[in-house]
Amino acid sequence: MLTYRRGLTFVLALAIATIALSAQVFQNAQLTISKLKEHVWIGETSDNCTMYIIEGSKKALLIDTGTRCDSLDKIVRKITSKPLEVVVTHGHFDHTGNIGYFGSVFMHKGDLAMVQGQGYKGKINFVDEGYVFDLGDRKIEVCYTPAHTPGSIILLDRAHGDCYSGDAFGSNQVWLQLQPLSPITDYIKACKRMLTLIDNGIPRIYCGHYVYLKKPIGKEYMTKMLTLAEELKNGTAKDIKPFRSDAPLAGYHGPLIASKEDIAIVYDPAILK
Ligand SMILES: [Zn+2]
Repeated sequence: MLTYRRGLTFVLALAIATIALSAQVFQNAQLTISKLKEHVWIGETSDNCTMYIIEGSKKALLIDTGTRCDSLDKIVRKITSKPLEVVVTHGHFDHTGNIGYFGSVFMHKGDLAMVQGQGYKGKINFVDEGYVFDLGDRKIEVCYTPAHTPGSIILLDRAHGDCYSGDAFGSNQVWLQLQPLSPITDYIKACKRMLTLIDNGIPRIYCGHYVYLKKPIGKEYMTKMLTLAEELKNGTAKDIKPFRSDAPLAGYHGPLIASKEDIAIVYDPAILK
């Protein structure tokens, strides 16, 4: 019986691995691209950053560009031949790292200084709340949700119930300790906004570091984050420690981490004032 079970487990594991591999459409040492669903692909970099390609009947949209992926423009061309637009959810280098391969990029003006500081020479187009990328049979709408950075946006595919969130929401911790800081009230507002969107037909959030979760987040995650953010603001958060990380950017002076169950907020105490 035990042998039979082991055999069954092996066959199941093999089947799952085969399905995962069959979804893969491109791989090199820096980047793996897999089909996420019809006309949507997910790109995962070897340093744990995520990008998405959404293809409509007339155009395609690349959301975020990872840290370092050589010739990303040519790689995206292997996935879709539709005219391409590129949007970054915010200005951090692990989302804008390869915009140099593209002649123009869309972003929120709140993170302009970051992107200019990275030496981008192409055309920058600003988008704000309500802007729609019209891809033909798919419309992708911008929702402005500052907090992680002053220019953070999320992208909504209302018809399919999907949100692409960059670092505004996602992974098991949100970083609110990086300069320039936004007040915790901005994050609370963003969480409430996302919960309203979830209740209005957008239950799935695909984040900017998908590898840590390997699934979209949704109402449970956002509810927990909102609760913790409100506890921080009210001074009732219980589990607070100094935050240590070797990740680039993370070492801003004196950040703290507030944890609750499986989620956490990394923050600079100044955002509570
Ligand atoms: Zn970021």
